[in-house]
Order: sequence, then C-alpha cells, then structure tokens
Amino acid sequence: MNKRNTSLIAVVLATVLATGCGSGGGFNLISIEEEWQLGAQLSQEIARQVRFNNDPQVNAYIRNMGQRIVNQAAPPFNQLPWQFHVVDDPSINAFAIPGGHVYVHTGLIKNADTASELAGVMAHEISHVLARHSTEQLSRQYGLSVIASAVLGQNPGTLAAIAAQIAATGAMARFSRDAEREADEIGIQAMAAAGYNPAGMASMFEELIEHRQGQPGQVEQFFSTHPLTENRVRDARSRAQQIGNRGITDEPEFQEIKRRV
Ligand SMILES: [Zn+2]
Repeated sequence: MNKRNTSLIAVVLATVLATGCGSGGGFNLISIEEEWQLGAQLSQEIARQVRFNNDPQVNAYIRNMGQRIVNQAAPPFNQLPWQFHVVDDPSINAFAIPGGHVYVHTGLIKNADTASELAGVMAHEISHVLARHSTEQLSRQYGLSVIASAVLGQNPGTLAAIAAQIAATGAMARFSRDAEREADEIGIQAMAAAGYNPAGMASMFEELIEHRQGQPGQVEQFFSTHPLTENRVRDARSRAQQIGNRGITDEPEFQEIKRRV
C-alpha cells in the first residue's frame, strides 16, 4: 500500500471515529442485532448484582409505561423486545443498558409526584438506547474489540466487570451534555406521543434539583451520570409548551404503585 492510500484511510478512519464518538451521529460500530445480544448477556450479569422488586402490580405498571413509550419509536426499535426492570433501591435513579434493558429504582417511583414525571425519566433513559448512546459509550470505554468479543460470548470477564460497574454506579458512565440534550429531545416527543403530559419531564428535573439541595446522597448516582443543569430544565419546559398537553398528568394506578414500593 502506498503512502497516499494509507493517509486516505487514516482520514476516513478519523472521520468514522469522530462520527462514532459524537452523540447521535447515527453511526455505530456495533450492529443493532449485536447490541441486543450484548444486552441479553449484560442483563443476566446485572441480575446477579442488584435486588429486584417482585411486586407483580408494580412491574406490570412499569412495563406498560415503558412499552407505551417504546411503541412510539421508529423501526426497528419499536419491534424489538425491551425489558423494564424494577430495582429495589431507595436512591432516585433509572438507567438503561444496550439492548433495550431499562432499570427503574423504587426510589424514583416513590419520589415522582405524578405518572408523567416518571414517564419523563423513563422516556429519557429509553432515548439513550434509541440514540445508541449506550453502545457508543461502551465502545469508547472498553474498545471495540473487547466489546465485539463480549458479544460473541468470548469474554465473560469483561461482561462481569461492566455489570459490576453498572451495579455500583447506577449507570454505565457519564453521558455528555450533547447526549443528554438529545435524550431529552427524543424522550419528550416520545412521552407526549405515548399519551403523557410532556410537562412531566421538566417537573421531574425540578424535583431532582430540589432533592440535590436537601438530600444530595439520594440523587448522587443520577447526577453523576446525567449532567442536569438549569438549562435542561428550561429547555424541557419550553419544548413541553410547544408540544402542548395532550396527555395524562397523573393516574390512580401510579399512586397505587407508589404506595406499594
Ligand atoms: Zn441521560
């Protein structure tokens, strides 16, 4: 290979990597099929490290809310299997891993005032998967070859290490501000289309900021992985105004599961 070709490849590769690392560039080195395979394996590891809430009514409610939001996503995401897990943990947190596994802490359910507030956070987490932020982040953190061998089941140690990190920090890693903005944008459209009042997102963000002042420990995980600024609250509020309220703010079924967790 001559020098000219080599440098051309270097330029192409640099462009590809830059796109792959940007948020929502739409380019990802892991296929969606591989991502779902990886998610299935990772979720089994996580199941060994967290305690799930086993109340069927709580789980059914969360599953239904999550599925309603996912149904609004574009193909293939709305046709893929998603799983919504309720983690018995008093801290106010939710997180998503690659492959459509979304985890909601009982502390988030308890501290959301209304169904639409909970829907706002769930829609945000789901949108990190839709925008493929989670696989981008994994590839960046562990390197593509490590992730590729993990997908093939050749690297059980790495899967266990990633799962342990997720269980300990309540997320995979810190998302960038761009990724957060994108997840908010996609999420608020999806929650509104699913029939929830989009004002719930800003309202939940305000709750989180309030909690941070009163009981910082309870929201530490959420804030350390999802940078939440006053800007995001303002943006969420103005987006909700543009969309208009077409959906439910609260429902008795939500208040019922709040009592149960
Ligand atoms: Zn986020």
